[in-house]
Amino acid sequence: MNVRNLSSLLHAAPAQSPAVIIPESNTTISYESLRQQVMRLAESLAGAGIRPGDRVASVLPNGLPTIVTFLAASIAGTAAPLNPAYRYEEFCFYLDDTNARVLLCPPEGADEARRAAQERGIPIFNVEMDEHGSVRMAGAPKSASVAEPAPENIALVLHTSGSTGRPKRVPLKHQNLAVSCHNIVNTYALTPDDVALCAMPLFHVHGLVASTLSTFLSGGTLVVPGKFNPLSHWRTVRDHRVTWYSAVPTIHQLVLARMGDNKKPEGTDRLRFVRSCSAALSPQVMEKMESLFDVPVLEAYGMTEASHQMASNPLPPRPRKPGSVGQGTGVGVSIMDDKGNHLKPGQTGEVVIQGPNVIEGYENNPEANATSFTNGWFRTGDQGFLDEHGYLTLTGRIKELINRGGEKIAPREIDEVLLGHPAVAEAVAFGMPHNTWGEEVACAVVLRETQPESTLLAYCRERLADFKCPKKIFIVETIPRTATGKIQRRALASAFSGEPK
Ligand code: AMP
Repeated sequence: MNVRNLSSLLHAAPAQSPAVIIPESNTTISYESLRQQVMRLAESLAGAGIRPGDRVASVLPNGLPTIVTFLAASIAGTAAPLNPAYRYEEFCFYLDDTNARVLLCPPEGADEARRAAQERGIPIFNVEMDEHGSVRMAGAPKSASVAEPAPENIALVLHTSGSTGRPKRVPLKHQNLAVSCHNIVNTYALTPDDVALCAMPLFHVHGLVASTLSTFLSGGTLVVPGKFNPLSHWRTVRDHRVTWYSAVPTIHQLVLARMGDNKKPEGTDRLRFVRSCSAALSPQVMEKMESLFDVPVLEAYGMTEASHQMASNPLPPRPRKPGSVGQGTGVGVSIMDDKGNHLKPGQTGEVVIQGPNVIEGYENNPEANATSFTNGWFRTGDQGFLDEHGYLTLTGRIKELINRGGEKIAPREIDEVLLGHPAVAEAVAFGMPHNTWGEEVACAVVLRETQPESTLLAYCRERLADFKCPKKIFIVETIPRTATGKIQRRALASAFSGEPK
């Protein structure tokens, strides 16, 4: 079935097939019910004045309301899901930057997002779910009809961390997302018999595209817990006959940590494979997972600008290679040098990609667009090499990013927050190696006047979502520089020995 937008994607399965399972209440939602709920909410949004291209911000925890809201928003306008962990100042930025026309919230909480929206005169609606798993926009104005979205309409807008403190806006079209879902369904041979467990948040492409939309395209079933819980993980897999799930390495490690040396729990034999993406999976963790879970563990490579998946290790009998993120999955993958020459297998350079899942450009950002594309190839900012069979190994990053358990953080954003403190003269954030998170945020500061580290940490916590807050601030006399006077963030991580507490 050749699907080119997210509303037709919902028609891939028969009406009565199970689309979503809410494990906490053991409620199953059929495809017919999902389609009706999505259209009802899309019509409510249209009644509230939302037209194609209008941004619908949402601040919702994982669950059916989030899925219905995301699909409805992308059909009536453009979905702009935000991380509920953001603080007030971050919500102000994202609501302004997306030009949000409406904010959708859970019935309780999201206070800082509400405050930011209220101050901007942005209407706020609560999204409620009753005990039968029926989702509605509370107090919605009279509904209006909604047209089928064109493939080139922007379905989803997300942000990626830029090399400046200011995140870049990534517009993903219906057809970008649909192509990516087709690629993922093909990579893992997903069918209506598959049951996926959604372990990733639904404000990122990993959870949205890999777990959710690809499952719907294949006509399979998605199990959506409110929050990933390593304690109930195997019970959920067993109770709902889960066949696969995708997560970041940090989550895989949390699952392993709960298992000790026990083999795969009984009753979970339907599991076909486990996917890992969004941060590097160490070969040791992969090997341990495979020996305990007794299924293939497939590492993939994804990126928001590519509507998520670019490469993956394949299912058996084709080989999977530990330490490699696999081959391009319907996506052109090549290695380029600084001058735009394509390099040979074994040669290290910048990973570049090409395909109809990839954005044509960032929104309203000519500087980033000028440096991100070379001869029609998108420069990922990742460094790596291909082997003679087209398997990609990532060796490093050219872009300045901290990858904390798959969550990307721009170090400049942390610098800028700390530089706002009157006692701080210089601030340089960087990623410190961390056993579970991969990298953790740390920062070196030079002070104008004495300040305890705790005051500076508290200052960050008021302005930054917890995951972005430095866990350690090193107070130093001078920031170490290279012989040419440059600051190398990566060198700082090795200059300050020991891991952040
Ligand atoms: P995001 O846009 O949040 O999905 O982040 C994309 C970035 O995550 C990529 O450019 C890589 O730096 C990183 N990434 C994704 N998958 C992997 C992987 N399997 N191994 C290492 N880094 C990865």
